[in-house]
Amino acid sequence: MLNNPVKIAIISDLNWGTELTEILLQRLVSRLNRLVHPQATLIFGDTFDDSFSSNSVVNLLYLKNILDKLDSPYMVIPGSFNTSSDQFFKIFAAPEQLKDICGIQFVSFANSGNHGNIVKQPHENLVRFRQCRKDYSGIIVAFPQTGLFPQNRAKASYKKTDTKTTISCIKKNDILLSLSSNHQKKSDVIKNGNMTFINTPGICEPPFPYTVINIEKGQIQSERQELAMDSNLQLFDNHIHTQLAYCNDNMMINKAISLAGDFGLSGLTFTEHSGQLYFDNKSYWDKDCLKTGIISARDEDNRMIEYLKLKINHQQNTVRFGLEVDCDYKGNLLIKKDDRSHFDFIIGAMHSLPGLSRDAALNKNDGDDYLFLLEKLLINNINVLAHPFRLFKRCGKTAPEELFLPTVKLLRKYNTAAEINFHTNEPPIEFIRICLNRGVRISLGSDAHQLAEIGDFAYHLALLKEAGFDGDLNDILLPK
Ligand SMILES: [Zn+2]
Ligand SMILES: [Zn+2]
Repeated sequence: MLNNPVKIAIISDLNWGTELTEILLQRLVSRLNRLVHPQATLIFGDTFDDSFSSNSVVNLLYLKNILDKLDSPYMVIPGSFNTSSDQFFKIFAAPEQLKDICGIQFVSFANSGNHGNIVKQPHENLVRFRQCRKDYSGIIVAFPQTGLFPQNRAKASYKKTDTKTTISCIKKNDILLSLSSNHQKKSDVIKNGNMTFINTPGICEPPFPYTVINIEKGQIQSERQELAMDSNLQLFDNHIHTQLAYCNDNMMINKAISLAGDFGLSGLTFTEHSGQLYFDNKSYWDKDCLKTGIISARDEDNRMIEYLKLKINHQQNTVRFGLEVDCDYKGNLLIKKDDRSHFDFIIGAMHSLPGLSRDAALNKNDGDDYLFLLEKLLINNINVLAHPFRLFKRCGKTAPEELFLPTVKLLRKYNTAAEINFHTNEPPIEFIRICLNRGVRISLGSDAHQLAEIGDFAYHLALLKEAGFDGDLNDILLPK
């Protein structure tokens, strides 16, 4: 008997081929790699949108390129409606009929001998079940079935006349788990003796569900997770970049606003870097703006007017515009006096310290510089401290723990929230614990530089839980 737990992520009905599905898949890959950590990922059902040509090598390679970013091994099987799969199995490895992952045998119903067409004939399936069980006594998982459930136990969009025979054969051959996609939003889990039947909902419609299955000591636990946030939580994303960021990927304000709704957010705040709006690309990344301050900003580089135009065109109750602002190394806020009046939401950021670099070890001055600049930021009446301590990680250092308590005390003193921000970052949990214990408000920020990142707070909520928080989020989050 297999003793080590095995975790499998199941994605069904991706309907690949639209901009939305690309965004969903990027978000999913990040979620699985950073939070879920499955040992295997299975992708099946209607893998392609009707408009997608699965014979297009370029399109298939593009899909493979994203899936290859998964840390776990994956198997992808084109759906029964995507039968033009000759090209498909030239790009993707044809699933082995019986594949061992962490001691579990997976029986898949894409028949490589038949150019990947799903084997639809139940009697062929029955033969396969018998073949798989021959000389093997361990756990077998069968997928993808088509809406296969014990009779009268669940509504499936597909009815099979031979369900009884198929299930009897599955039982006889001791198949532990049967996975189906059901083209519906609901997740169905049905136990029948030792067997479990799971019908997984399609990921392509809000709230974009996927399924995570744990198999341990012959027991199966299934959990539905979603790429969108629970809209009942009424979460705001307080840190999102725009197409004006030099470091943005595919941000577009109108798309971001529409996606925020799909992702279950109550609202969002765009917070462009002031340094990027005042300085040209090179001066910004060379940190000239921090060394010489706002006084050295050249008129010809000023793009604040463009940002203000975006604000005028898109601002509404649930769509706000603020700024992400550093202090220069002398401690002056990097914003022109006249511009400050346009924004009532400022997140203060520390992206660099004068003496901190990848090449040098931490020295005592770094801590002093950090606290000096932190207080200079806070004195300026900012709302949120962006990604606390991330600057140390960016330089390959661990956040100095001796700075946690002084930082929390300053945040309290100036009534400023601490941001939880996972963008290229793992927030130090001990710092978050101290914030919670000392009553410092928390602000949730995705720091999205690409559309797929907007409002994905699964990481943030998991961190709060790990830090011991299980109360009402309204008690700790920055008020809207
Ligand atoms: Zn930042
Ligand atoms: Zn940012």
